[in-house]
Amino acid sequence: MKKIIYPGTFDPITNGHLDIAERAASLFDHVIITVANNPKKKSLFTVEERIDLVQASIKHLNNVSVSSTNVLIVNFAKENEAIALIRGLRSISDFEYEFQMALMNRSLAPEISTIFMMPDEKYMHLNSTVVKEIAALEGDISAYVPAIVEAKLKSKLNI
Ligand code: ADP
Repeated sequence: MKKIIYPGTFDPITNGHLDIAERAASLFDHVIITVANNPKKKSLFTVEERIDLVQASIKHLNNVSVSSTNVLIVNFAKENEAIALIRGLRSISDFEYEFQMALMNRSLAPEISTIFMMPDEKYMHLNSTVVKEIAALEGDISAYVPAIVEAKLKSKLNI
């Protein structure tokens, strides 16, 4: 059973995140999308809301589940008997941060690998912050997030 963790903030989940989750699901037996519960990081959605939105967005993927954690991600991976972490790489600017994180995680837990995947080109420019900004200005985000996320964003932003 090859299990992999897909960690992130997911504030909220986008089609770019889903693209990576789907790619990982086709290669591994089980993917756990892990919502970081970091009270110091300001998020629009609560951790429960972010989990619910992930849950509603992965119904079509039977080997993907969602969880949250406030412990070190490599420790969470070990507790869940996962073999690796998966991260999405969109650009060179992602690379520097991700490279450092991957090396630090490997130093903390050499048995947990980090795997990078690139999303479909149409999601390369996408991130949760941009989606929230477009939504706040009443732009069309339907191509970027699942319908349930679009609806929840609109109600959260009173649009
Ligand atoms: P962000 O705030 O950058 O959208 P998260 O902290 O939720 O992201 O990111 C979790 C992981 O998902 C990271 O590895 C990030 O690079 C990846 N990711 C985010 N958006 C995309 C996207 N559009 N395509 C591919 N990977 C993505």
